[in-house]
Amino acid sequence: MTLTDLRHSLDFSQLGKDMYQLVAELYPICRSITGDGVRETLTRLHKHIPLTTHEVPSGTQVFDWTVPKEWNIRDAYIRDSRGVKIVEFKESNLHVMSYSVPVDCRMTLRQLRPHLFTLPDHQDWIPYRTSYYEERWGFCLRHSQLLRLRDDEEYDVLIDSTLQDGYLTYAESFLPGDSPDEILISAHVCHPSLCNDNLSGVSLATFMAKSLATIPHRFSYRFLFIPGTIGAITWLSRNESQVSRIRHGIVLTCVGDSGAYTYKKSRRGAVEIDRAFTHVLKHLGSGNRVLDFVPYGYDERQFCSPGFNLPVGCFMRTPHGQFPEYHTSADNLEFIHPRNLSESLRTSLSVFDILENNRAYLNQNPKCEPQLGKRGLYRAIGGSNTDTDILAMLWVLNLSDGEHALLDIAESSGIPFDAVTRVAALLEEHGLLSEKSK
Ligand code: ZN
Repeated sequence: MTLTDLRHSLDFSQLGKDMYQLVAELYPICRSITGDGVRETLTRLHKHIPLTTHEVPSGTQVFDWTVPKEWNIRDAYIRDSRGVKIVEFKESNLHVMSYSVPVDCRMTLRQLRPHLFTLPDHQDWIPYRTSYYEERWGFCLRHSQLLRLRDDEEYDVLIDSTLQDGYLTYAESFLPGDSPDEILISAHVCHPSLCNDNLSGVSLATFMAKSLATIPHRFSYRFLFIPGTIGAITWLSRNESQVSRIRHGIVLTCVGDSGAYTYKKSRRGAVEIDRAFTHVLKHLGSGNRVLDFVPYGYDERQFCSPGFNLPVGCFMRTPHGQFPEYHTSADNLEFIHPRNLSESLRTSLSVFDILENNRAYLNQNPKCEPQLGKRGLYRAIGGSNTDTDILAMLWVLNLSDGEHALLDIAESSGIPFDAVTRVAALLEEHGLLSEKSK
């Protein structure tokens, strides 16, 4: 079965439910850039796809960065003098600023206040805060909770965490193809109970791998499940000699919300994956956006740093920071939907299908148009020259001069790549085209 056949045979409705179920399973786990939450997450992904886990020791130098100490947390709360826990880690792992150092003391609200973070504009949402590279501690709470704390009260404050030498954990899933040339797919696994950013991307990558593992493919596919920023830097540092195999790449994030699609181009701006996403999103209808590269966002920042400049873009629905729920407790299981996840999968597989099938042909009858009718290729009676297949055949025959591949033809003609590929196969079958040898 080819990828094209697979795309047309998958039950996307069921896949959406399965993708959502994986997000729901991972949602309660307290992840950070290191620690047992990441390991637990990767163990669960391994039930779905082949996965190799790597442990990189704290203190390892990775380009200009150093792999940090490993952070783990068991419990945390703020308790009033009557023994009532007002803020509790066990209720939501967002309540503790990620990488908080341990604390166990009694203090007044005035002493506690600099360590508390809220969202005054969304009083019932808990913000998500981190302090990876500065040793601090903090609690994130609903603003409505903060308003109930009293100046004349003393509070017991506990964060039972450890920050010590350990490891940074990441995993790779590698699906070998006919060619050693690779397509890189990267998702970050460092956020705690947050769904769109980025369990949606983790689930999408997992189900891409699960789908592609069932069929033969031309490219090799490498899926990275890595902590944001430091994970990408660590991976690049350890794989520098192999990145020349990467022909196309994509960072996945925020793919479960109900917004239209957004594709952010690679730094190079017009490489094949940029063009393939642009083509697919254009034909899916209005509202989808293609953005130029900017040096902020997700791990495309590292893959597209000038020393690598890899052909890696970023696929999203609503970009980070452009939905109010971003980095808050409202980015929860209600904010994403199975249908959005499965449509993001369908769209990504359409892009991979283009990358898999984008090849150049040579017209075997280039002197004037071949007579399609006598070969049964012109839908004779009633056939109209606006018929997409006829138009696609004329485009393919005309541009198959060795200089244009099928995606060039789809772009020039405005005809969907699927139709261009289908007629190219038909013309090849009738001896009118042959694939240009590389
Ligand atoms: Zn984030």
